[in-house]
Amino acid sequence: MIDKKHFKVFKDIVGDGNIYDDKAHMIAYSYDATRERFEPDCVLFPRDEEEVSKILRYCNEHKILITPRGAGSGFTGGALPINGGIVLAFEKHMNKILEIDMDNMLAIVQPGVINMTLQKHVEELGLFYPPDPASENYSTLGGNVSENAGGMRAAKYGITKDYVMALRAVLANGEIIRAGKRTIKDVAGYNIAGILTASEGTLAVITEITLKLLPKPKFASSYMAVFPSVDNAMNAVFKSLSLGANPVAMEFIDALSIKAIKEKLGINLPENAGALLIGDIDGNVKEEIEFQTKILEESFKENGANDFKVSKSEDERKEIWNARKNVSQCVTIYGSKKLNEDISVPRSKLPDALREIYKIGEKYGFSVPCFGHAGDGNIHVNVMVDGSNKKELEDGHCAIEEIFKLIVDMGGTLSGEHGIGLSKAPFMDIAFNKAELQLFKEIKKAFDPNNILNPGKMGL
Ligand SMILES: Cc1cc2nc3c(=O)[nH]c(=O)nc-3n(C[C@H](O)[C@H](O)[C@H](O)COP(=O)(O)OP(=O)(O)OC[C@H]3O[C@@H](n4cnc5c(N)ncnc54)[C@H](O)[C@@H]3O)c2cc1C
Repeated sequence: MIDKKHFKVFKDIVGDGNIYDDKAHMIAYSYDATRERFEPDCVLFPRDEEEVSKILRYCNEHKILITPRGAGSGFTGGALPINGGIVLAFEKHMNKILEIDMDNMLAIVQPGVINMTLQKHVEELGLFYPPDPASENYSTLGGNVSENAGGMRAAKYGITKDYVMALRAVLANGEIIRAGKRTIKDVAGYNIAGILTASEGTLAVITEITLKLLPKPKFASSYMAVFPSVDNAMNAVFKSLSLGANPVAMEFIDALSIKAIKEKLGINLPENAGALLIGDIDGNVKEEIEFQTKILEESFKENGANDFKVSKSEDERKEIWNARKNVSQCVTIYGSKKLNEDISVPRSKLPDALREIYKIGEKYGFSVPCFGHAGDGNIHVNVMVDGSNKKELEDGHCAIEEIFKLIVDMGGTLSGEHGIGLSKAPFMDIAFNKAELQLFKEIKKAFDPNNILNPGKMGL
């Protein structure tokens, strides 16, 4: 609990109307998408980097805890103030697009800018910011960088880290640092922007982000293919990519998820569908789309696809994506609580990984519908349990732990998108050895010796 005497200092820094400690605000800033609740002692809305610096310097001197927060859409508890203290929120003031540099094709933004705001803004200028987490309409770029968010377009365009050129950030002691440059090449010094990306608010507070932009592709279409089995679909992924297909997205939906979609949305899909692949193709000339479509169609059919559809209009694109966009809510037919993990494996391991995941589900008696990004090896695994049944919940968590061990043994990782935060902190020693964990701790200590920045997250 912060001594209220400090509030006067914070008010002097951020000004009236930018500090709150009333119950309504404490509740509003106590949550994220994990639905766990931890109330802070106060929330501050800094107006600029200088104020962030003053707040951190003061908090460091008085050992007051700080949790930076974007939109609170994180799935692993990163923005939760688990030990109270201050929530530092950027949505009110530090939410501006500062510059679009057309010649160098980059954007400079404050951390509170919403992902979709930047996407729309640059598209009006003929440019393109590809990272598109499904939370793009509300998650912030500060949160995206801090979680290294990815999206459907990752198969072709990569994830947030591939676009971060430079950052400005405030260290725990209030010092302001610049990491990276506007240049494409920069090999001078450690890659601090790289270390801060995915650091989940544990190392520094990000106050400015320089992002690479691309030219906006002129043409796009969507495709959907139905396969008899997961193995057929995965082989089609490998085959088509090795033949030169370069789809923007290559999304996978398994048989259990297809059944749920049919039941909940009434979408007309074949009874015996074992897996679906859905995605987009883009390019600057129509011939490129035709070439990509041809490779996909041929290699999908060679690998057992019994239906291959390509959109001819925007409406048809929406219709194709309907199944994928709504699958997450549909799988709740299998249980009231979804223990949802976003494991990632080398793409070639996906068929084995899925086979073993289903076996773990069978062992515990749970349905485990899976869907996700086959093009980049990142799959959403949903262990479905009865949330009101304590034993099922415990068993569900045991199943998750087994899945994590399996994935790490296959050369994969605990999280392809959502980060570690609070939820996955207990599993860090499955994924990292002692020396690696110690290195993380030393890095944390170098940035934040008094452990005031988001303590307890990522197992730190
Ligand atoms: C429906 C839904 C769909 C989603 N889909 C995807 C998806 O497709 N891909 C994906 O990757 N994620 C997805 N997510 C998860 C989430 O949206 C992302 O992790 C997103 O990047 C979080 O952004 P945010 O602004 O909400 O950050 P928050 O949740 O507020 O914070 C996330 C972390 O960033 C830190 N942080 C925030 N701002 C700063 C800052 N300025 N400086 C330092 N640290 C900071 C916080 O302390 C916290 O640790 C989804 C979430 C939901 C609810």
